[in-house]
Amino acid sequence: MNYLVVGSGLFGATFAYEAAKRGNHVKVIEKRDHIAGNIYTKEIDGIQVHQYGAHIFHTSNKEIWDYVNQFAEFNRYTNSPIANYKGEIYNMPFNMNTFNKLWGVITPEEAQAKINEQKQVLGDKKPENLEEQAISLIGTDIYQKLVKGYTEKQWGQKTTDLPAFIIRRLPVRLTYDNNYFNDTYQGIPIGGYTQIVEKMLASDLIEVETGVDFFDYKQEYIDQYDKVIFTGMIDQFFDYKLGELSYRSLRFETEELNVDNYQGNAVVNYTDAETPYTRIIEHKHFEFGKGDKNKTIVTREYPASWHRGDEPYYPVNNERNNHLYKEYRDLALQEPKVIFGGRSGQYRYYDMHQVIRAALQVVTDELIEQK
Ligand code: FAD
Repeated sequence: MNYLVVGSGLFGATFAYEAAKRGNHVKVIEKRDHIAGNIYTKEIDGIQVHQYGAHIFHTSNKEIWDYVNQFAEFNRYTNSPIANYKGEIYNMPFNMNTFNKLWGVITPEEAQAKINEQKQVLGDKKPENLEEQAISLIGTDIYQKLVKGYTEKQWGQKTTDLPAFIIRRLPVRLTYDNNYFNDTYQGIPIGGYTQIVEKMLASDLIEVETGVDFFDYKQEYIDQYDKVIFTGMIDQFFDYKLGELSYRSLRFETEELNVDNYQGNAVVNYTDAETPYTRIIEHKHFEFGKGDKNKTIVTREYPASWHRGDEPYYPVNNERNNHLYKEYRDLALQEPKVIFGGRSGQYRYYDMHQVIRAALQVVTDELIEQK
C-alpha cells in the first residue's frame, strides 16, 4: 500500500514506522520546517531545548514504555514543578511539603483537618463554577494562591465564569512526595525527543517532506495515495463547514542567559494573576544541568486565545466542542480513504504515551487485522 501521512508528530511517525516495517511505502508531509511536531527539541549550547513546551514522558503501560525505549535511552528525570506565588515558593502537586509551608502542619491528619475546615465556606452548596469546585476540593488558601490566577491565565476567563467540570479532581497528596505523576515510568530521552521521530522515519520506504501544507493539494493527495493518515485539525480538513472547534494557543518566549543556573528547577509555575506568563522552563534541568556551564536557556510560556492560522495547542473539550467534534467524526467516517489521528485529528488532549497507543491501535486495525 501507499500511505500519505500528514504531520510528522508522534502519531504520524509511529504509524509511518510501523507501516514501513510491514513493507508499505509512506510519504510524510509536514507543514513546519522540521519533523517531530510538538515534541521537537533542538540542541542549543549543548542544551536540549523543548521548542513547544516542557515534555515529560510518563506512563504506567510497560508495553508503551518498552516501545519508546527502542528509540532513545531515557534518564531518571522526575517531574516536580514548583509554584511561585508572589515570591513565595510551594511544592507541586499539592502535598505535605505544600501544606507544611502554607500552614505549618506536620501530619497528614492536621493537613486534612485544615483542608476540611476551609471547604466549609461553601456549606452544602453544590459547586456551580470552577471557583466553587476548587474550594470544595482543596479549600480556600490553595485555591487563592495556587489555582485561581494560574487557571484564569490559562483559560483567559474568570474562574467564576468557568464551568465546574473543568476540574473534577485536583491531585492532593498527603505524603511528602513532590513527584507530579503517579505513573510507574517517567523520564526524558537523553539527547532530546527529535531523535525518536528521526529514528522512526529512517527507513528507505519512508519519504519525508517538510514545509508542505496538505491543504495546498488536498484532493490531489487523496486521489494519489491508497490511504491518508491525517493528524492536522479535523475541523480544518472539512473547511470548518460545521463551525470552528475551540482551541487554546500558546506563545513561547525563549531567552539565552549568561548564567549556569537561573531558577534551580526545570519548571516553575507563576500562579499569581499579574505575571503574564504561566511558567518558566529552564531546559538544562531536564538533563540535570548538561550543557554549557556559562549559559542557560529559559522559555516563558504565555497562554493565548486561538484564531485561524495559530497553533492549536490545546483542544477545549467542553460540551459544545465535544458535540461538534462528534459531528465532524461522523463526516470523517464517510471518508473511506482518510484516517484521522492524533491530538488535533481526534480533538483530544492526548499525552505522548496515549498518542503512541492510539497510533498502535490504528496500526492494528489498518495494517494487521485487515491483512
Ligand atoms: P503534533 O505533535 O501536533 O503533530 C502534528 C503535526 O502535523 C504537526 O507537526 C503539524 O505541523 C502537522 N500538520 C498539521 N496540519 C498540517 C497540514 N495541513 N499539512 C502538513 N502538516 C500538518 N505530553 C506528555 O506526555 N507529557 C508532557 O509533559 C506534555 N507536555 C505538553 C506541553 C505542551 C505545551 C503541549 C502543547 C503538549 C504537551 N504534551 C505532553 C502533549 C504532546 O505534545 C502530544 O501528545 C503529542 O505531541 C501529540 O502528537 P501528534 O502527532 O498527535 O500531534
